[in-house]
Amino acid sequence: MTVGEGRHGDSLAQRNDRRRPGTSFQEMWRELLPVGRHPDSGGYRRYAWTGADAECRAWFRQQAEDRGLAYEVDRNGNQWAWLGDPAAGDAVVTGSHLDSVPDGGAFDGPLGVVSSFAALDELRGRDVEFAKPLAIVNFGDEEGARFGLACVGSRLTAGQLTAEQAHRLTDGDGTTLPRAMEAAGYDPDAIGPDPERLARIGAFVELHVEQGRALDLSGDPVGVASAIWPHGRWRFDFRGEANHAGTTRLVDRRDPMLSYAETVLAARREAELAGAVATFGKIAVEPNGVNAIPSLVRGWLDSRAADQDTLDTVVGGIEKAAREYADAHGVDLDVVRESFTPVVEFDHALRDELGRILGEDTGLKVPVLGTGAGHDAGILSGSIPTAMLFVRNPTGVSHSPAESAAEDDCLAGVRALADVLEGLVRR
Ligand SMILES: [Zn+2]
Repeated sequence: MTVGEGRHGDSLAQRNDRRRPGTSFQEMWRELLPVGRHPDSGGYRRYAWTGADAECRAWFRQQAEDRGLAYEVDRNGNQWAWLGDPAAGDAVVTGSHLDSVPDGGAFDGPLGVVSSFAALDELRGRDVEFAKPLAIVNFGDEEGARFGLACVGSRLTAGQLTAEQAHRLTDGDGTTLPRAMEAAGYDPDAIGPDPERLARIGAFVELHVEQGRALDLSGDPVGVASAIWPHGRWRFDFRGEANHAGTTRLVDRRDPMLSYAETVLAARREAELAGAVATFGKIAVEPNGVNAIPSLVRGWLDSRAADQDTLDTVVGGIEKAAREYADAHGVDLDVVRESFTPVVEFDHALRDELGRILGEDTGLKVPVLGTGAGHDAGILSGSIPTAMLFVRNPTGVSHSPAESAAEDDCLAGVRALADVLEGLVRR
């Protein structure tokens, strides 16, 4: 464990007096903007334990040190910046992640981290008395872009991923997670569950750009998360008969592409009926020849819905339709569920507290919304009370360079986060 100039013996009040000027939200944003940005796509390629990731992490450390916060890296490579003594317990923690998906946008992750530092500066400007320790965290490898599993840093900490499982993760070039961590200067033998750390946290609040248009449609700059939708991935294998595309009469064909295509349309219909989402976004075809009727079409379905019953109805409806189409074309069908994540309900008491704090501040009812995207806050919600704030994203586009948020909305997010943290550190 690396603890930077720890001053853990100081009292909370003393530490808050050691105030140093922080850079503004806009300055922090400008500093991060060029890091890991690909010149051709304009998107970000900040993959875990790469050079771009190291630059982001160096930036985080600098922000912590500029503010006189105690900097440390935990056993799983997550970065922490502490105001106050972590051992005091009941800490209020905020933060997000700095890594990205391939050619991701600027906001997913960094908005939460930058807003956390800006919110702390705001609290110091307000002369808030910190009755509890406060920490800002950057969780490692949230997007899973390199090793194929999302939220590795928080999963390890929460014990939802074992060290053995993590040691087997391998990237596209054959580099394992332990070798990648080692190359970046971290000890892969240290990784594992961190219950002592979690036991010191009373509440975790993650601010995140909205990955949808609910706030744009409701006309609100900031919202509170209710739940992360249950979601899963299913593999549909349609097996027919490969044959010549020129000489095989249409009536003699057993073409799995036809039943697959009809199934894609059925998925759209079922999702529309239920107010859910269903996507076939990946496909593999054999033999994959332009002049050959396929023998196999393998399609992967990703589906998410507000609750379990709805998701079951949608996926059940898609599978039933797929079997009928397969039968009609003389095609065999296998459906395999490859992964599943149940609904994550954020802590109701903390959510209500956030709504109350923000309502007092603005006099408005803050919208409460569900989301189809996973987050570190969702992983941690099994261990500690967690909550999320969303900032309006006018296009709703995420995981793309088109992801955006207006500066005024970002600053409204910082104020909302500061209000929430002020309410929580005083309790
Ligand atoms: Zn994110």
